[in-house]
Amino acid sequence: MRCVQCERPIRAAQQLLKDHPGTVASGAHGKCRTCHIRGNKPRAWAGQELLAEIDHIQDHPENVLRRLNVTAAAVEKAAYRHGRPDIARQFSQLIRRTS
Ligand SMILES: [Zn+2]
Repeated sequence: MRCVQCERPIRAAQQLLKDHPGTVASGAHGKCRTCHIRGNKPRAWAGQELLAEIDHIQDHPENVLRRLNVTAAAVEKAAYRHGRPDIARQFSQLIRRTS
């Protein structure tokens, strides 16, 4: 089972991380514990960490925002600040389309 928000694999409540590497703890309503506790509050990512995650998950910008629980404006700002105009441009287009 995967978290409905971040799409990371969730392990069952009795299972241990050491026996199931790469999984996250379960929360409620189909979400992992981290997403469940955070609710709908946007996550404050460190810029470099955010860009590394975007490179890692390789998904459409709309899905990236949902999975990482972050706004397009925050991604754009971090990408420009850390010298990734390629990423910034994808999210600038998203901001213009939705506003
Ligand atoms: Zn999650």
